[in-house]
Amino acid sequence: MADSTTTLLESKPPAAEPKRSWGDVVDEEEEEENPSVGDDITKSEDKVVSELKVDELSIADEKKVNKFLDDPEDSNIQAVTTGDTPYTSAATFEELNLTPDLLKGLYVEMKFQKPSKIQAISLPMILNPPYKNLVAQAHNGSGKTTCFVLGMLSRIDPQLKRTQALCICPTRELSIQNLEVLRKMGVYTQITTECAVPTDNTSGERSKFRPPIFAQIVIGTPGTIKRLMSQRKLSVGDIKVLVFDEADHMLARDGFQDDSLRIMKDIERSNTKCQVLLFSATFDEAVKNFVSRTVKDYNQLFVKKEELSLESVKQYKVNCPDELTKILVIKERILEFGENLGQTIIFVNSKRSASMLHKALVDFGYEVTTIHGALNHEDRDKIVKEFKDGLTQVLISTDLLARGFDQRQVNLVINFDLPVKYETPDEPHYEVYLHRIGRAGRFGSKGAVFNFIMTDRDHMIMDKIEKYFGTQVTEVTSWNSDEDFKVALKAAGLV
Ligand code: ADP
Ligand code: MG
Repeated sequence: MADSTTTLLESKPPAAEPKRSWGDVVDEEEEEENPSVGDDITKSEDKVVSELKVDELSIADEKKVNKFLDDPEDSNIQAVTTGDTPYTSAATFEELNLTPDLLKGLYVEMKFQKPSKIQAISLPMILNPPYKNLVAQAHNGSGKTTCFVLGMLSRIDPQLKRTQALCICPTRELSIQNLEVLRKMGVYTQITTECAVPTDNTSGERSKFRPPIFAQIVIGTPGTIKRLMSQRKLSVGDIKVLVFDEADHMLARDGFQDDSLRIMKDIERSNTKCQVLLFSATFDEAVKNFVSRTVKDYNQLFVKKEELSLESVKQYKVNCPDELTKILVIKERILEFGENLGQTIIFVNSKRSASMLHKALVDFGYEVTTIHGALNHEDRDKIVKEFKDGLTQVLISTDLLARGFDQRQVNLVINFDLPVKYETPDEPHYEVYLHRIGRAGRFGSKGAVFNFIMTDRDHMIMDKIEKYFGTQVTEVTSWNSDEDFKVALKAAGLV
């Protein structure tokens, strides 16, 4: 489809360099239990957005969107491009001039038929000279991984046995998942890959004995990557593509801003031609502002926050007078439906909450597994693998898996605790809410979310979340009514 409605804007003025001091402490724990995004929003952000007239732009005529897959959720992506490079979005993977090996990977291994909307719009921007930087927002489950994976695989010079693309992710789980996608998609190429995540709790020590990296594509977590770079085991001089998945968290002050910035600057210093790709379903104003100050001359794709919720995922709230009721609701109203519901992820705010719930459900005779950042890596990998293989049906998790985790069979998400900001627990964590509920409804599949409301504070938080995203979260009238839950699950298309 021609992007006839795309408006080309001149490049923004060069971004001012933010004053930052480097945090060069080796961080072992790269995952957070309750990440909260910095909320130091300044007025200048509004200016950046309005100057670019984002709201007036639309890359696609909504009426023609049916050329794409059945993913109506991401039909409202807005594009702002810079410079004089016209882009045409691609209705088929063939139009992208991918190598035959990559096309085969997409069709035979991935079993994809055609690009999703974000793929159709972003891939021409990523794959074609002058290889502009890109900040891309698109809905949860709409196929962002494929955009940057194809971006990395396409740019590798097969003859050059050095690292040419680097992808940084907030958790080891997401790094491993993304690498699995990349290996599958690139299976017919000879491109070499490596995962750079902590291997055990003394990884700082261990990486000293790690051999230098020759792999052409490296995916990993920021602490490990930064460490490998400072130990000169990962050289960045030939890197052509630098990806940040879950980029808003990677660049948030209370996320991995220091590490990410350092990696970006180190690469920029030895290499001026590196394309930076930032992908996420959420970019709050503080992060957008930071991006406009740190990334040079980029194209951008954005979705309004009121249009971010997935229509295929029905959101409910359930009033529960006490904690015991919350547990009974899970047991009697939800898990009793058994495997008909597919898989379920229950989100909690702390390890303590996770252990308590785990014990209670096990005592009731349910097989559940629990994951959080304090478990050792081997256990974490095992729990994720069992869940991905369908051996377990119900997974209790902290926000370790709130972002990026992709499992088609997850139809149900339960917010046992509502997501709140770590430092200011009276404030909802809007982005985390959206990411948590996005674990259901992957690529247009149906899903339901149950938010448990126990205290006055919970009510207030839920109200704020509804207002922020402009969505209505339907109340399940009585926690004690089987019928009410059946109706809810039926309306979500799950029973
Ligand atoms: P997100 O945008 O949240 O990062 P993912 O990249 O994890 O989404 O993709 C979500 C799911 O959609 C994955 O299981 C992926 O295999 C599937 N998917 C992505 N692109 C396509 C496509 N073009 N056709 C079919 N399935 C796709
Ligand atoms: Mg993703």
